[in-house]
Amino acid sequence: MTKQVALASEEEVDAAVLSAAAAFPGWRDTSIAKRQAVIFRFRELLNERRDELAEIITSEHGKVLSDAAGEIARGLEIVELACGFPQFLKGEHSENVSTNVDVYSIKQPLGVVGIISPFNFPAMVPMWFFPVAIAAGNTVVLKPSEKDPSAANWIAALWTEAGLPDGVFNVVHGDKVAVDALLNHPEVRSISFVGSTPIAQYIYETAAKTGKRVQALGGAKNHMLVLPDADLDLVADSAVNAGFGSAGERCMAVSVVVAVDPVADALIAKVRERMAGLRVGDGRRNPDMGPLVTGEHRDKVAGYIDLALEDGADVVVDGRGVEADGAQDGFWLGPTLIDNVPTSSRVYSDEIFGPVLSVVRVATFEEGVELINTGRFGNGTAIFTNDGGAARRFQNEIQVGMIGINVPIPVPVGYFSFGGWKQSLFGASKAYGPAGFDFFTQEKAITQRWLDPSHGGINLGFPQNG
Ligand code: NAD
Repeated sequence: MTKQVALASEEEVDAAVLSAAAAFPGWRDTSIAKRQAVIFRFRELLNERRDELAEIITSEHGKVLSDAAGEIARGLEIVELACGFPQFLKGEHSENVSTNVDVYSIKQPLGVVGIISPFNFPAMVPMWFFPVAIAAGNTVVLKPSEKDPSAANWIAALWTEAGLPDGVFNVVHGDKVAVDALLNHPEVRSISFVGSTPIAQYIYETAAKTGKRVQALGGAKNHMLVLPDADLDLVADSAVNAGFGSAGERCMAVSVVVAVDPVADALIAKVRERMAGLRVGDGRRNPDMGPLVTGEHRDKVAGYIDLALEDGADVVVDGRGVEADGAQDGFWLGPTLIDNVPTSSRVYSDEIFGPVLSVVRVATFEEGVELINTGRFGNGTAIFTNDGGAARRFQNEIQVGMIGINVPIPVPVGYFSFGGWKQSLFGASKAYGPAGFDFFTQEKAITQRWLDPSHGGINLGFPQNG
């Protein structure tokens, strides 16, 4: 059954923002203990009913059920982090910085915060932000992707069941019109965005112009550097899992294997072997990989296979025409492997965001590092090796925000923070973890003196310590 949502007008976004603004004073002043009780309850409900949400995600996005369950598990991690929020909201205190003068800081919420999320993680990506934002006392307007909108509605209903007051968590569906209305609304204090790089840059520039705090996470092209001493079975498993999981529609997917000579031929043989066993189909029927999100996106991704041939690469496995266990008119594209991809080709430099894994061969470790560092994205990367010295040098020299050492998709756990470098993140603030609490709070520093009866006198000089 096809479900549809209406796209919000500017007036409808305004109504959602005003509802969040009206709820803010009450929520901000709700005690830590009471806020914590609501978030714990939300965590319990989400944990109990996670299968319902997974089914919604699979039916709209297409990813396989186990993958949808995985995204919920990673989102829950942030809800659990938020349960412990009082620890993150503590200020600092220095007594007697000058005679009888104390200085201390307090952290306060921003107000109404906007979250704009992409299609590929309709539950997890919003959960990178709203548990932290709500815990810190803000009220939220979420604009999820119009391609898979139902998860956000389900989550909103769950918050109500958990006892969150009306107006604290709001969802508006929409496209550019709704996004622009949020960016330009004077009551919206911050924007948290995740999506493609051109839109992330637009969001960053536009929201900054209106004086908002902005974090805008963009696209990626993640490389996996394979040294000749690596365990090739582990590498082949990792490349296939991280390249084709969720049909490659993950910002932390591995899309380029950089094979240091002479490892490529043996590695490609092992990857091909594994690809031959992959089953593509309707995510509800337990295949390995589902369809792409839309027909338009499938055609765009398939176009890169033609481009690879034109640019002189070797298409080792062509996923077009794959036999899928699902609807005839589904947006199918099978796992695709392309060897000897020229680095001048757009197949190498564009974010394809589909089940297409490229192989680039290099002669040395240094050449591999140089290649990765010249890319415009810097989201994630991985090195596979048994050489600790090489891994250490890699982590030191590589210009990327999240690094895996023999780990293909190094998404940091909830109590660290998530974010890339370069065109994968605009703004200085990463998602969740300590950085998330910093983003969703503003600090006040208070200097206090309780006058001693002996104190007094006029002094127009600049205050100095004594
Ligand atoms: P997208 O940029 O098309 O859309 C993201 C959001 O922006 C959606 O809510 C959409 O409605 C809105 N939007 C789209 N076009 C807009 C416009 N012209 N003006 C204003 N708003 C607009 O991204 P997508 O296709 O939904 O998601 C895939 C992209 O997200 C990939 O590039 C992927 O790498 C990236 N992503 C990045 C991360 C990360 O952590 N860095 C995580 C997940 C996804």
